[in-house]
Amino acid sequence: MTSSTAEAKSASEQPKEETISDHREGAVPRGDENLDYIFGEDLPKDDYVIEVTPGVLWARIPLPWSLDHINVYLLEEEDGWTVIDTGAQGKTGRDIWELLEKNVLGGKPITHVVATHLHPDHLGLAGWLVERHNAKFSMTQAEYLLAQSLWMGASDSMPKAEMEFMFRAGVSRDLEESMSSKGFGHFKKGVHELPYSYERIEDGSIMMLGGKRWQVVIGRGHSPEHACLLCLDVPMMIGGDQILPEITSNVSVYGREPLGNPLAHWLSSLDRMRAIDSDPIVLPSHGRVFKGLINRLDSLIDSHLRKLVRLHGWCGEARSVTETFPTLFRRKVTGMDFFLALGEATAHLHLLESLGLLERSFDGNTYSFQAIGEIDDATIVDQVNLLPGVQLRSYQDIAA
Ligand SMILES: [Zn+2]
Repeated sequence: MTSSTAEAKSASEQPKEETISDHREGAVPRGDENLDYIFGEDLPKDDYVIEVTPGVLWARIPLPWSLDHINVYLLEEEDGWTVIDTGAQGKTGRDIWELLEKNVLGGKPITHVVATHLHPDHLGLAGWLVERHNAKFSMTQAEYLLAQSLWMGASDSMPKAEMEFMFRAGVSRDLEESMSSKGFGHFKKGVHELPYSYERIEDGSIMMLGGKRWQVVIGRGHSPEHACLLCLDVPMMIGGDQILPEITSNVSVYGREPLGNPLAHWLSSLDRMRAIDSDPIVLPSHGRVFKGLINRLDSLIDSHLRKLVRLHGWCGEARSVTETFPTLFRRKVTGMDFFLALGEATAHLHLLESLGLLERSFDGNTYSFQAIGEIDDATIVDQVNLLPGVQLRSYQDIAA
């Protein structure tokens, strides 16, 4: 799942921020104009794949959602293939894999499945592919354990704590019955039963995939321990949902960790990746393959900094989470976007609160946030990096 809602209220004054909402409504994301889309408008489809470099193929698996595809990457081994990410559970994805097996993989099996993170579009068919090919499966520990927890914790009714999190954000308690009846099984619907065992990959670890060395670079905030893969032999990086060219990734607080500060992890992770100096071709999970990593990292960071400044100003008057939507998002937030927006607005509020720029109060029903102090967007990332538990060891340390 990838997304950000968002159309800034003062959109005409702001640089364009492409979002999942734009995409959901059928607009073609324009992409970041500072990037070089090295294959132009050419896109993989069905069993038509694009060779990024020899032995590295880019394929697309359709998704049954409004974000209608995920990119997957196929790395040729001597005796088989490694695949990075899989598509969501369902016939549509399975049909494409069968087509790829028949027409692209040349009769060789899939020997290794790697999932960048737990979201169903990435992990959904991992169990199916692993079973089908008796393949090895790799993932980071936090992603694997959270995936198992969500899969096993699926339920017909929404947990009370999830609903309480939303009520405290400003959702009316009158909606309790209808919210509860929606259940808590979205994740399980999109994910085949997970492989029982996995091989843990960690920040800095190096895997030989397709005859090349790939180093795991962890990003956090969109999911807890998202693995990007930086190739050490050819300037190339599998970015997953951490580095997307055309939309911004959803960074949300959830009811399971209602005081979480994922935006701090997100900004710090992106900032750390700015030390990658090989100017790699970036292979993202959605949108087009591109060059221009540092430009993209900068614009992803900047889009959040702009929102944080607007939000701080908007909270000159105390606001609940849902009352911040008009300044954070450019159009009325409805449907599934409402939940994404709620998580994302909360993430921005928690970041400001953690830096001492907002004060929280509670009236017994809803939290409100009131601005305090002066915000200086030029120093926010440095301040975030000093928060406890936020900063991973430097990229230079893992690169050494
Ligand atoms: Zn994701």
